[in-house]
Amino acid sequence: MLEQDQGGTPGSSTGEPEPTAAAPSGVTPLRIVVGYALVGALWILFSDRVLEALVPSGPLRDDLQTVKGWLYVLATAALLYVLIRRQERTTRAVAAQVQATLESIGDAVLVVAPTAVIVDANRSAVRMLGLSAKEELLGPLDHLVSRFGMRRADGSPFPRDGFASLRALRGETVHRLPAVLRRRDGADVHVEITAAPVQEVPGGPVRFAVAVLRDVTEVRRLDEMRDEFLATAAHELKTPLAVIKAYGQLLQRRSGADTAALQAVERQADRLGRIVQQLLEVARLRQGGPDLRLSSYDLAAQVAGVVERLAPHAGGQRLRLAAAAAAPVRADRGRVEQVLVSLIDNALKFSPQGGEVTVAVARGEAEAVVSVRDMGLGIPPEKQARLFERYYRAHEGDPRDRGGFGLGLDLAREIVSRHGGRVWFESAAGAGSTFHFSLPLAVEVARASA
Ligand code: ADP
Repeated sequence: MLEQDQGGTPGSSTGEPEPTAAAPSGVTPLRIVVGYALVGALWILFSDRVLEALVPSGPLRDDLQTVKGWLYVLATAALLYVLIRRQERTTRAVAAQVQATLESIGDAVLVVAPTAVIVDANRSAVRMLGLSAKEELLGPLDHLVSRFGMRRADGSPFPRDGFASLRALRGETVHRLPAVLRRRDGADVHVEITAAPVQEVPGGPVRFAVAVLRDVTEVRRLDEMRDEFLATAAHELKTPLAVIKAYGQLLQRRSGADTAALQAVERQADRLGRIVQQLLEVARLRQGGPDLRLSSYDLAAQVAGVVERLAPHAGGQRLRLAAAAAAPVRADRGRVEQVLVSLIDNALKFSPQGGEVTVAVARGEAEAVVSVRDMGLGIPPEKQARLFERYYRAHEGDPRDRGGFGLGLDLAREIVSRHGGRVWFESAAGAGSTFHFSLPLAVEVARASA
């Protein structure tokens, strides 16, 4: 169907669609062949005997023999004609159904042949790129990429190997690859590309790749609006928060004040301050983010210092340092601390009263790994894949949820990846979680201390 429809207007090449013809009729090729062989065998066995009985001998019988032969040829030809027509109608009906499905999809669909040529596209693809006819889209994939300036979401070019359709032609299934295309009218379209190989049998040769491009421009715009709104709100909260905290500290120093209550005020002001800080960070990182202020220091000493400082404020939970091997790193001290505080904050937040949170620093060959372990709620397996998404909160609606904006992990991952490290976790619902982040060891410092 895909080749057949090349160059035709959608739906026009199919002629007379008969939706019922595509339904299975029970007439399989095997049944047809068996039926034909049976009729043929009966004809060969009995037609001569019937003729002999009707016309015992003479020239008339010879003539009738010839007529009988012709009758056989004509009947076979008629049968073949009926079968071919029937097959043709079924194929057309299937093609019409597939074409109608393709055209009714709101996402852009491109069909790419193994020669990296786009051989089919639907109306949504034409519309998405601001074109007027499908034919403008058909042709080599490389032309499409250069003509519509296809690039990664961050603006960098895609290596040819990374094109979703080419990966699908190599047998891979690609899920939601973010990309940007420039429409003919100059506007940028943000898309997520999902591509899959089309194989007649699993593991067989790839006949085509089908790429589905979902327009996420509007979703991104709404995301940006949300980020901007939250950043503005956070900016407005900064000053009143600083004032609350300062007065809380002042009152604590005055004799006769209820110190426990004022400490609670200060603690909550700090917590709110961290949320405000996170919201401002998100806005900054969106705009490319501030550069890292790198310095060389011992990560283990930093972790020990943070744990010591936070332990008295752990509420009903216990926070302790399990192990800390010296780990020289070159990193932005303030931001690494932000990551650490965020992970510890989560671990405490999702631990039961009296629960223990342990922090450890391990030094590997080329990287240092910080781990924060809790014995708390854990994260259900079906929610784990989305955990690092911005604003995602796995325990939303759970009465044990202690609130938050769902920003801490997104920021932690961004900060750590800017240092060349990574963040990951292990967790089981009800059995606690361990979050890890790694930072590359500072080479020159590591050598000196080895
Ligand atoms: P938040 O500020 O809401 O905690 P995060 O990005 O830090 O945002 O975390 C996102 C979500 O991940 C949390 O809302 C929670 O559902 C889950 N989560 C993070 N850390 C833990 C943990 N240690 N134990 C259980 N769930 C966690």
